[in-house]
This record gives sequence, structure tokens and C-alpha cells, in this order.
Amino acid sequence: MSLNEELHSVSRTTAGTVARHDTQETFRSTNPATGAVVGVFPVHDADAVAETVARARVAAQTWAALGFAGRRVRLAAYRGYLARRMHELAELVHRENGKPHADAILEITLAIDHLAWASTHASKTLGPRRVRAGMLAANHAAVLEYQPLGVVGVIGPWNYPVFTPMGSIAYALSAGNAVVFKPSEFTPAIGAWLAAAWRAAVPDVADAFQVVTGSGGTGAALCRAGVGKLAFTGSAATGRTVMATCAETLTPVLMELGGKDAMIVDDDADVAAAAGAAVWGAMSNGGQTCIGIERVYATSAVYDRFVAEVTSQVAGLRPGSDDDAAYGPMTMAGQTDVVRRHLDDARSAGGRVATGGTVDGGFIAPTVLLDVPESSSAVREETFGPTLTIARVRDAEEALQRANASTMGLGGSVFSGSRAKAMDLARRMRSGMTSINSVITFASVPALPFGGVGESGFGRIHGEDGLREFSRAKAITRLRFALPVDLMSFRRPPSATDTLARVMGIVHGSHR
Ligand code: NDP
Repeated sequence: MSLNEELHSVSRTTAGTVARHDTQETFRSTNPATGAVVGVFPVHDADAVAETVARARVAAQTWAALGFAGRRVRLAAYRGYLARRMHELAELVHRENGKPHADAILEITLAIDHLAWASTHASKTLGPRRVRAGMLAANHAAVLEYQPLGVVGVIGPWNYPVFTPMGSIAYALSAGNAVVFKPSEFTPAIGAWLAAAWRAAVPDVADAFQVVTGSGGTGAALCRAGVGKLAFTGSAATGRTVMATCAETLTPVLMELGGKDAMIVDDDADVAAAAGAAVWGAMSNGGQTCIGIERVYATSAVYDRFVAEVTSQVAGLRPGSDDDAAYGPMTMAGQTDVVRRHLDDARSAGGRVATGGTVDGGFIAPTVLLDVPESSSAVREETFGPTLTIARVRDAEEALQRANASTMGLGGSVFSGSRAKAMDLARRMRSGMTSINSVITFASVPALPFGGVGESGFGRIHGEDGLREFSRAKAITRLRFALPVDLMSFRRPPSATDTLARVMGIVHGSHR
């Protein structure tokens, strides 16, 4: 029996929920292309969430006690399991999220790569290390280490239902925490599959990774369940609510929120390459990518060529649910309304539709908009659809100014022929991540931290920062030998502090 075939029973037991929950309320997830039911899942209420977190708390002790080496072996078994069943999981992602099978494979590959990096770098990043004790404590050894938080709650979105939550789950588990994951109500089968895969691959600490299903109420219960940290990925609006709920119990939060990422195309850029990257960055996954390109600022020198190149490349793209489709339907019906509103707003503000602009059910044609005023919602708000605005700017400085004039700042891209200029623009771009002469690449580099500024959130997943995000620093000193004079004692002689003041004068007094 495949994991998919097990899903129904998994969905009732993934959280380890006991029989009394068999009568509880359920909900369905459906295929966004056909409306067919993918699975039926329990709505875990506050009691069920509390029970799951209690089991996770017990498992967290076993998991932490395994140490880095013991966890690394088990995390390797998990990623091996995922790699061997990649097509099965990709097929489920295709059915429940709507994206093409090939894009699902790419997403799962990225998640596995992060799992590998996190588990193999945890010991070096978080393990105990001696640090200099300094002048005042020269007779002590000083040790710094990063300890797990216990149970980490993860709340995830539907757009990258494997890669996005795994950015928190892989790093939290590698840091020695147990995880309770609440997937989006639009992709519960994928979340349940990931947890069932864990139970199969790591049976001796099965409760270290569990899933609870439901909608916002289940997520809120997880916020209130006394977890050590809540890692949230989703919209800024829900992020505010999650933060407010977590504040009730002073639960710390990690916020990975939406974006309105910009691309700058400079005078000397490779225009064809920039156009290809913009089209992929804007249209892949139907534009439902937090780090997707939504705005392009092209200098006057390249604008006409860039628009012509983008328009011709977009002409070859088509949404659909077959193997040849470039991208699938909108996963969440409500998002179609947002895209439609932005298109209408852009048109009524004087914007021109260079190509696309049509909406057929959940399928939205790849759309390129020109001359859209910066005040329009299509430029200011996250569209999260297969649309791209292209604006003509005087030079790269104006492009940067406009790119930075956003409340959000997640990722971004710079296309330039000059390495020094591109680096300068990338550094000054108000975002957590920028790719030069490509798009989205930073997300595929496990050693690089991932996260935003402003309304795109705070905190970091991925890389060493991502591992530290799910741990707390612990400082320890150990007396190595006693000194004849102990400054931190009521028995110190009165002359001791005079001597100390003289030494400080000699060491630091010459600095002006
Ligand atoms: P939402 O903010 O609508 O939902 C995110 C998650 O929060 C879902 O699991 C949702 O559950 C849950 N939730 C909803 N209400 C509450 C509540 N009151 N308390 C606790 N949890 C709650 O985002 P989407 O799922 O629509 O995802 C799209 C958004 O995610 C976009 O803005 C996108 O940019 C962003 N995103 C950010 C990324 C990043 O790394 N910065 C990566 C990927 C996406 P339910 O679905 O059941 O309502």
C-alpha cells in the first residue's frame, strides 16, 4: 500500500489522535483543477492540538537526547525515504496544489537539499565551543552552545506545500526540537503525507514530527499550546493575528510573510537573459511564489527590447493541468479575485495590458502590464498571480528607489553587466535576499539565510541563522583555577579596585 493509499487513515491518526476524535468535525481538500476530493481530514480542536503538543514534548526529550549524531542518522533516513518516493509525493502535490508534476519534483528536490544541509551542519553551528573568557575572567573557561527550544509549532501556506514548511521543519528538527506542523487547509494531504513519511522512516521517535489539520482555529490553538516558538509562513494579515495570539503566552514567533519583489534591469544587462528570468520569476507556479518577481524596473536604454523579449517569451506559455502546461490553476479560489482586482485597478489607472489579462475559472493567462502607476494596487500590493508590471525608469538609481518604495522587502533581482555595480545595487536593495543576473537562486543555497524586512517579516530560516533561529544560546563559565584576589567577593582588599582602575587606564586610556 502506498503512502497515498494510506492517507485516509493517516489523516485520522497522524496527530496520534485517539479514537474519541473519530467523531469530530472533518473537512475536505480538493483538486483545484477538477474539484475532485483529495482527502478528508479532521479539524483538530484545542484539546487535540494540546494532546499532540504534549506527545511532542515527550518526544522532544528523546530527540534532544539523541545528540547531533543520532539525529543526523535519522534525518538522513527521512530524506532517503522522501527521495525514494519523490514521484508519489509530486503526484500528490500536483493533485492537491495544482502545480505541474515537474515543478513539484523541483520543489521536493530543494526541500531534500535543505534537509541534508541542516542535519549535517547542526553540530558545527550549534554544538558547544570554547570562547575567549577575556581579561576579567581569564581564570575561567567560557563555553557557548545552542540548545533546542523543545517543541516548535510550524504553520504553513499552500503555495509551496513541501519546500516552504520544510524550511522551518528541517532546521527545527536538526536543532533538536520536536515539531508540530499545521499545513494550510488547502494542502492538508501533503502535510499528512510528510508526517506519515516521518513515522515510517523514523519509527523510534515518531512523535518528533506530527501534523494537526484544520483551518485558522487549529492554527490559533497551536499558537496557544505552549510551544517554544511558532514559525509562521503566510500573509502579513494573518501574521499579525498569529503574533497577537502568540503574545498571549509570550510565545516567540518567526514571521515569513509575503513579498512584492522587484527586478532591476540596467543599461548593460543581458536583456534576453533578464527577460527569461523575469518570465520564470513571475509566471512559474502561477505567480503564487512569495519570492516571485512582480515588478520590473528597466532603464530607458533597454526598456523597449526588454518588453518585446518578455512579450514574445510569454506567448509560448499556457496554464493548464496537463503535462505540457507551464503552470496550473490558482490553488485557492479567493486568490483569483485578488488578481482580478489588481488587473482592473491597473487598467482603470491607465495601465496597458501588453499580453494576457484573461481569467478563465482558476486559470489566469500570463499577463504583462505596462505604464501602471506606482500608486496602483497592482504595484503596491502582493498580487500572487501570473502577472508582471514593467516600468520604464531613467537609470538604475531610479529603479532602486522605486524598488525600495514598498512596505515589503522579501527578495529581488538585479541584472547588470557590471559586477561592482550589481553588488552595490544588491546591497542597497531593501530586501532580505537578492540574486544577481538570475532570480530566486538564493532560496536554493542552503547556507544562505532566508527571510524578509518590513512587512515581509522577520527572523530567518535556512543556513546557520536558520539553525540558530530554532535554538537558544546557552552561556556557561567554569572556574579553572582560583586567583589570590577575587574581585567578585566581599573579601577583596580595598586596593584591588584601585589596581583594576590603573590597569584599565593603561589598556584603554590612550584611546581617544
Ligand atoms: P495565509 O496567511 O492565509 O495562511 C497561512 C497559514 O496560516 C495557513 O496554514 C492558515 O490556515 C493559517 N491561519 C489562518 N488564520 C490563522 C489564525 N488566526 N491563527 C493561526 N493560523 C492561521 O497565507 P496563505 O496560505 O494564503 O499563503 C500565501 C501567503 O504566504 C502569501 O502572502 C505568500 O507571500 C506567503 N508566503 C511567504 C513565504 C515566505 O517564506 N516569506 C513563503 C511562501 C508563502 P488555513 O489555510 O487553514 O486558513
